[in-house]
Formats: sequence, C-alpha cells, structure tokens
Amino acid sequence: MKFIGAHVSAAGGVDQAVVRAHELEATAFALFTKNQRQWRAAALTPETIRAFRNACEKYGYSSAQILPHDSFLINLGHPQAEPLEKSRAAFIDELQRCEQLGLSLLNFHPGSHLNQIDEAACLRRIAESINIALDKTTGVTAVIENTAGQGSNLGFRFEHLAAIIDGVEDKSRVGVCIDTCHAFAGGYDLRSEADCTTTFAEFERIVGFQYLRGMHLNDAKSAYGSRVDRHHSLGEGNIGTTVFSWLMKDSRFDNIPLILETINPDIWKDEIAWLKSQQRDPALTQ
Ligand SMILES: [Zn+2]
Ligand SMILES: [Zn+2]
Repeated sequence: MKFIGAHVSAAGGVDQAVVRAHELEATAFALFTKNQRQWRAAALTPETIRAFRNACEKYGYSSAQILPHDSFLINLGHPQAEPLEKSRAAFIDELQRCEQLGLSLLNFHPGSHLNQIDEAACLRRIAESINIALDKTTGVTAVIENTAGQGSNLGFRFEHLAAIIDGVEDKSRVGVCIDTCHAFAGGYDLRSEADCTTTFAEFERIVGFQYLRGMHLNDAKSAYGSRVDRHHSLGEGNIGTTVFSWLMKDSRFDNIPLILETINPDIWKDEIAWLKSQQRDPALTQ
C-alpha cells in the first residue's frame, strides 16, 4: 500500500497538522514538532500530546504514515565541539518529542563539514551523534535524508548514507529518506524510466532498500547535478512526471511515507490525487 501526503503546517498545534493532512485526503504526512528555525521550544504538554494522538486515531494515521522532520539548525557533523554539543542535545530533544507523540521515525539532514574537517571525519561524527541519541531514546528510528550537496552538506552521495549507517551501532533504528529533487541535483538522474531503474539499482547496491523509511517527492527547479536545492511542483521542473508515476507502481516504495515538499501548497490535494491515480497502469486494469 502507498502512503501519500505532504509536509503540512503544524501552526496552531501539532494536532492541526493531522487535520490538514486529512483535508488533503492524504494517507501520509510530515510535520515539524517544534518551530524548525529556533533552538528552543516549550515541552509538549500532556494536552497537546493527547490532542495529537486522538487526531491521528480519528483520521486513521498510524506512526508508519508519519514522517516528522527535525530543525534545520541541527548539524550532527559540526566540526566544533560546542555547536556539536548543542546540535546533539537538540536532536535528542527532537527524538524525545517523537517518542511522546507516539511517532516512530525522525527525518533529518545528515550534517555539514563547513570546510573545517574532511568528509570521512564528518560522516563519523554524524554516526556518533546518532549513536548517542539512539542510546538515550527508544522506539524512534533516525531517518537520514539524502541532500542536494549544497555548500558543505554531506549526504548527496549514496556512499555517504552507507558510511553513516555503517557507523551506527543499532542498525534496526537507522534508515534513510530519499528526496527526488536532492538526488537529481546531487547527480542521480531520474528523468526517464531507464534513469530511475539505474539510480535505484545503485541505491540498492550501495545502501539497500531494507533501510528505506521514506521518500520526499519533489520536482526540481535546479538543474541535474547542480548541487542546488530548489524544489518545484510535480511535472513543473527539470525532472518531469515520469519518476513519480514510476515510483507509484513499484512495490519497493510501499508502506513508507511518500511526502510532497513541493512549492505550491494550493495544489497539494491535486498532486496527491494524481499520485494515487498513478498507482496502476490503466492499460493493465482493463
Ligand atoms: Zn526533503
Ligand atoms: Zn530540499
């Protein structure tokens, strides 16, 4: 079964994100459990936690359909001790918020070396940050997102994701989320079905589908291999619709959140409906 949705706003409380997902007729959603641009957030109150859990039950969302995203400020591979500590503490807090809300996944961008340490050292630091955080929490899987490779961000090669997983002690609680815009900008072509086959064969060989815990479905304003992270609405950008239609028919993408982070929320409902319609080849259902 395909779980399809969008990264919805949690304005007014995390339970409001659930209502918004329902209004989009989504079968999955993503959200921030705190303001993503601030370090500190008030703890979740028992009322907020109850409201969120009740809304999920009311509208039929299980934790397998929800992919929370952490704050953009966190850099788990930070080259300097103090900011690294701050990032690790904030990441633990994010995991704990997920635990409280009954969520089982936390999506995050791996980290940046800021041109102060080499790639290998940064990847080791990220893995160590994940180990520390998993050690202090239970039940939530750390889901590493591939990046476009903008600036000094790591995670734009499947080898980076594999290296981080390799350094994580509890392999049962680490996974990956593949963002189609980031993959394309990072140099993995997705424009034709043959490109999709090649890219995901490479993914299977380097990382493995057993680690795939979610997908971000975005077209790209940025060019192929540009290492620039700019999303676009499905079919409006440089990737085109082929990959999204292809994904919907492939059972390797079943039972994980498939999340739109496209640029026009006004058409999310249409994009979700279109994705749902692509699940079967009409010619085969005659
Ligand atoms: Zn993404
Ligand atoms: Zn992005």
